[in-house]
Amino acid sequence: MIKVYNTMSRSKEIFKSLKKGEVSIYCCGVTPYNAPHIGNARPFVTWDVIRRFFTKSGYKVRYIQNFTDVDDKIIKAANEQGVTWKDIAEKNIVAYFKSMDALNVRRADFYPKVSETMGDIINMIQTLVDKGFAYVLDNGDVFYSVEQDKSYGKLSGRKLSDMMAGARVEVDERKHHPMDFALWKAAKPGEPYWESPWGQGRPGWHIECSAMSLKFLGEKFDFHGGGSDLIFPHHENEIAQSQAALGDENSFAQYWLHNGFITDGNEKISKSNKEMVKRNKGFFTVEEVLAKYPGEVIRLLLLQTHYRNPLEFNETRVIEAQEFFGKLAKAYWQLDDLARKIHAGEFIKDTGEKNFAITVSPAGGLVEEGERLLSNFYAAMDDDFNTALAITHMFELAKEIGEYYGEFVNGEILPVTIDGDIILRVRDIYMEMAEIIGIFEQPVPVEKTEEKTAEPELVNSLMKIILSLRQDARAAKNWATADKIRDELKAAGIVVEDTPQGAVWKKA
Ligand SMILES: [Zn+2]
Repeated sequence: MIKVYNTMSRSKEIFKSLKKGEVSIYCCGVTPYNAPHIGNARPFVTWDVIRRFFTKSGYKVRYIQNFTDVDDKIIKAANEQGVTWKDIAEKNIVAYFKSMDALNVRRADFYPKVSETMGDIINMIQTLVDKGFAYVLDNGDVFYSVEQDKSYGKLSGRKLSDMMAGARVEVDERKHHPMDFALWKAAKPGEPYWESPWGQGRPGWHIECSAMSLKFLGEKFDFHGGGSDLIFPHHENEIAQSQAALGDENSFAQYWLHNGFITDGNEKISKSNKEMVKRNKGFFTVEEVLAKYPGEVIRLLLLQTHYRNPLEFNETRVIEAQEFFGKLAKAYWQLDDLARKIHAGEFIKDTGEKNFAITVSPAGGLVEEGERLLSNFYAAMDDDFNTALAITHMFELAKEIGEYYGEFVNGEILPVTIDGDIILRVRDIYMEMAEIIGIFEQPVPVEKTEEKTAEPELVNSLMKIILSLRQDARAAKNWATADKIRDELKAAGIVVEDTPQGAVWKKA
């Protein structure tokens, strides 16, 4: 049973998908006017985990995310840089994908752009005009009339009068109500424009998501996501337009999920806060952060906080996350080492008696611990996608693996007693967790300490070779060579003793 916190009801609800075994998601994408900063990345990493979790849980997921490629900020950047709006958008869409790839964010099923959805946007505005929810001004501007919509404000829980008090409302005498918002803007000189029934112009911001979700997901879909700063007015307006156009107040998204914001420890990360951008110079955009730290570490840090909570992001926290990632990676390599030994035939493959001699703790065997932690992991994800808690279960398994591996390396567990099937099952469990969290998809760093733990084994193998060479020399009555080997080993701190069972060695 999956529970999700629905912003609409302000409570956790049991998730029931519209279509059995299928999940449809729309998440508001970026306005590609410059490179994404770490705050922009959070919703996409969040939704990537949710998609992975649903997919792993057996759902077919359809995920749509838009690009607002027609926008004031893009037009402004184009004019400043002396290029076209398309150049600005395309360049920053490439930068967006580069950053998301580094964070292991899988691609959406489709990325609609405003410039490519114009017909659908115009149709929806026309429907709103026809139904009396929108009005056209003499200059060709089209506004949505909030007073015609009795349920306006239901997502943010605000009444029109409260919005007026709280918002900085621009006085525009031409509007019927100060909270009315633009669906279509008549073209100004030097701006890109499209032909419409109301003349040349371009869409307002909110209408695109209503038109795109309708086009790619239909009248009803399961999830709508985005940052909590989008609840009002953006998502409020999306609901108003869509449900008014469709004439159905149950249409549009069924569950509204909003992620919390990211701070630098002091304030919310935002491009418009010049002071903040200056303070975090060189460590602000995703690209800048990725130049110093691996994408998987950044991803892990973003997921170590529940998506709804505020998240503090600064270099100290990144370093902590890197250390934590190193601990998870260590278990990855320990399992890798054991798996390689299985393939090399060092353990028994099937004793017919599972868990034979395998104990990691009095609580039970490693595989039982793995199964228990995997079930805890899923329970955490079932509870409003609590990645923060899920990761702690993965870490607990990493510790169990480390303990087991330590006992193995110290000779407390004899290779002959190890059932390879159990090791492989534990590795599958560990990698299943990793796949949902979305790590270990890039080369996993090997820790220096890892070589140290493997050392006794290496010494064992080398000593076996050296002593067998010495035995060959003795058999050939080559006493000089045999003694030379013994003396030089002694100088290196290793004592060789000849016993009736053959030569044995120990550290001096
Ligand atoms: Zn949107």
